[in-house]
Amino acid sequence: MDNINIKGKVYLVGAGPGDPGLLTLRGKYLLQRAEVVFYDYLVNKKLLKHVPKTAELIYVGKKGGGLHAFTQDGINQMLVEYGNSGKKVVRLKGGDPFIFGRGAEEIQELVQAGIDFEVVPGVTSATAAATYAGIPITHRGYTTSVAFVTGHEATGKRESTVAWDKLATGAGTIVVYMGIKNLPIITSKLLEHGRAPETPVAVVRWASTPIQRSVVGTLETITDVVREAGITPPALVIVGEVVKLRKTVDWFERRPLFGKRMVVTRTREQASELVYLLEENGADCLEYSTIHIEPVDDYSLLDHAVQNMKNYDWVLFTSLNAITYFFKRLEAIGQDSRILAGCCIGAVGRATADELLKHGIRADLIPEKFTGAGLAESLINGAITGKNILLPRAEKAMETLPEMLEDAGATVTIAPVYRNVPPKGRKDELRDELADGNIELLTFTSSSTVTNFLTMIDAVNEQELHSLLDGVKIAAIGPVTAETVCNNGLKVDIQPSNYTIPDMVASIVEYYHTQSEG
Ligand code: SAH
Repeated sequence: MDNINIKGKVYLVGAGPGDPGLLTLRGKYLLQRAEVVFYDYLVNKKLLKHVPKTAELIYVGKKGGGLHAFTQDGINQMLVEYGNSGKKVVRLKGGDPFIFGRGAEEIQELVQAGIDFEVVPGVTSATAAATYAGIPITHRGYTTSVAFVTGHEATGKRESTVAWDKLATGAGTIVVYMGIKNLPIITSKLLEHGRAPETPVAVVRWASTPIQRSVVGTLETITDVVREAGITPPALVIVGEVVKLRKTVDWFERRPLFGKRMVVTRTREQASELVYLLEENGADCLEYSTIHIEPVDDYSLLDHAVQNMKNYDWVLFTSLNAITYFFKRLEAIGQDSRILAGCCIGAVGRATADELLKHGIRADLIPEKFTGAGLAESLINGAITGKNILLPRAEKAMETLPEMLEDAGATVTIAPVYRNVPPKGRKDELRDELADGNIELLTFTSSSTVTNFLTMIDAVNEQELHSLLDGVKIAAIGPVTAETVCNNGLKVDIQPSNYTIPDMVASIVEYYHTQSEG
C-alpha cells in the first residue's frame, strides 16, 4: 500500500449510477483507505466491500430504511465534525457529486470550517441510463446538444427556475433528473413551448442495475405509459429523437439472463467464475459463501503416507481444495512435489488437472466423466487389484470412489486434508428473498453446496422447505450434485452434459432461451 498521507481530509466521491463496475479507480483507491464512509440511498451497497472492515460506515440516506432521517444541514455538520477528527472521510454520493447532488453545498461547509477536501467525479446517472437503455445521448444524425435538467423544481415554486420555454426546442436531447412526480407538468411545458408531440421519450428506472426497467412513449403518451407501468423514482426521463436508436442499440436488457436473481453457493476461497459468467449474461447474483474451508486438526494420516510414498501406486485428487491443502501440508513438513515422483496421479476433471499443473504435476489420468465414480471406473479399467491408492480429500466426503476401488481389490488410504464448515449469518436475508419470491434459480456446484445451503435456510420441515423453494428452479453441475439435490426431496431443472462451470452457465442460458421461446 502506498504511504500517501491522506489524513484528515474529506473526499467527495462519485459512486456512479448503480453498476458497481462504474466506480472510478480513484474512487476505489480512496474507499480502500477510508476510515469513515458516508453513503446514501442511491449508492450501491456492493461498493462498500472495498472499505476496510475497521472503517465506520454511516448511512445518511434520506430514503430507504435508515434509522435516522438526515437533513442536508445534519449531513454537512457531520462531515465537518468527522473532517475535524483527523480521519480519512469518504463521502460517497450517487452518480456524480456535482450533478444535482448538493455536493457543492457540502464543500462550501468544509471550506468554511477550513477542512481539506478533494472531489472525485462519477458516472452520472443520465449518461448511464441512456447508455444502459441503448440510447446514444447524442448522435450526429439526430442531435448536436444535450441538456441535463432537474424536474424537481417544476412545481413547488410558482416560477420554475428551469427555462422550459427555451429548452423545449433549444436542446436536442433533454434528460430530466427527479422528474417522475412532475412528469405531466414537464411534458405539457415542453409541448406548450413547441416541442413536437410525437417526440420519443424514454423513462429508465434504477439504471445500470439488475432491476433496471425502461419504458418508451412520446411526449404525448409517456405520462400514461409510466403510470400504467407503475414506474416510481429513481428514474430519468430522456426526451429526443435519439430514443429511436434504442431499437438497435439496446444491449443491457437484452442479455439472456437479464433481471433474473440467482443464488450462487460457493466456497469462500474459490474465485467465483460462476458469478462472473452469470453476471456477464445479465443475471443478478446473490452470493453465499455457504462453505468455509479449514485445514484439519490432525495431519498424521497424510504425514504417514507421505513418509511412505514409495508404497503408493496412485494418488487421486478429487477437488481443488484437496490439491491446495495437500501441497500446503507438503510445504509445512519440508517436502515438495518431487515426493510424488514414483506415483501415478489421477485428477477428477479438467480443473483439478490444471491445478495440478500449477504444482508441476501432469495428471496421468483424467476420466471421461468428471466424477468420483468416473475416476474409479477409469482406474478399474486398467487393472487396479492389489494397488495402493492415496486419497487426500475433505474430512467428510462421499464414499463412492474409495468403495468402488476397494471392491475392485485396491487398498485405499483416505487422508483428510481439509474440512468444510458451513458459516453462520445471512440466513435471514436468504430466507426473506426466497419467501418474497425474488429468487429465480439456485445453482449448486458440489454436493456440499447443496447440504450447506439447506443447513443455512434451516427449514423446520419438508413442507416449509417446499414452500420456500416453490417456483425456484435448480441447476446442478453434475450427476453427483444432482443426486444430492434429489436425495433432499428437490428436483433438478438444469444440468449440463459436461460438468464444468462454463457448461453449466451455457445450460442455464439455453434453458431460459428455450423458455422465452416456448
Ligand atoms: N448525483 C446524481 C443525481 C442525484 S439526483 C447523479 O449524478 O446521477 C437523484 C436523481 O438522479 C433521481 O431522482 C433520479 O432521477 C436520478 N438517478 C440517480 N440514479 C439513478 C439510476 N440508477 N437510475 C435512474 N435514475 C437515477
